[in-house]
Amino acid sequence: MIRHPERLHTVRERIASACARSGRDPASVRLLAVSKQQDAAAIRALQGLGQLEFGENRLQEAVEKQAFLEDLPLTWHFIGPVQSNKTKDIATRFAWVQSVDREKVLQRLDAQRPDALPALNVCLQVNIDHEPQKAGVAPEAVAELAALAARLPRLRLRGLMCIPALTEDEARTRDSFRRLAALAEDLRARGHRLDTLSMGMSGDLELAVECGSTLVRVGTDLFGPRMN
Ligand SMILES: *Cc1c(COP(=O)(O)O)cnc(C)c1O
Repeated sequence: MIRHPERLHTVRERIASACARSGRDPASVRLLAVSKQQDAAAIRALQGLGQLEFGENRLQEAVEKQAFLEDLPLTWHFIGPVQSNKTKDIATRFAWVQSVDREKVLQRLDAQRPDALPALNVCLQVNIDHEPQKAGVAPEAVAELAALAARLPRLRLRGLMCIPALTEDEARTRDSFRRLAALAEDLRARGHRLDTLSMGMSGDLELAVECGSTLVRVGTDLFGPRMN
């Protein structure tokens, strides 16, 4: 708990240096604290240091923690696999869903987003390296899915998200990030007004920022190791 200020400071510094190296404004990169497998007290500690956006990848776990944190003005992002039977709770309890990769889920989230809430912010998750075991829409199919998302009134398409293939080879990771950035450019050329490129985690956030990330998702380097 005592280490949260240093960790947050270090992560912010890493983002700022990557921005400086690539001539970017540090304010153009948001930090999402990935709080999966961390407890509500850890979230509260980071909130006390000014961190307001948190990401969770399991609905049940998120709901339990949200119940303890209702007094705080937090913005919740869902970043895990979206099962269709969970869309109603996700559409009700989150401001963002970054992991949408199929039509059925888009349609259900739109239909189930409560009218009293603003449109649900959506990023399409792209399987940027065509990994068979990994979630995400294939790069070739992104444009079609984006067109559908843009037509749904209770959703607001904000951008793209990816988790590149695990590799020690920085050049390959950089290439994956560049291809995601290019896909977002292609969607802009088709008329989509996207402002979010969600890429970069604890191990590769500098590379992601250098390739144009506007939102890095950091768990381990902010909270320490996850409890299992
Ligand atoms: C867990 C997770 C992260 C954070 O990973 P760290 O390596 O702990 O920073 C980011 N994005 C997604 C989708 C995750 O599931």
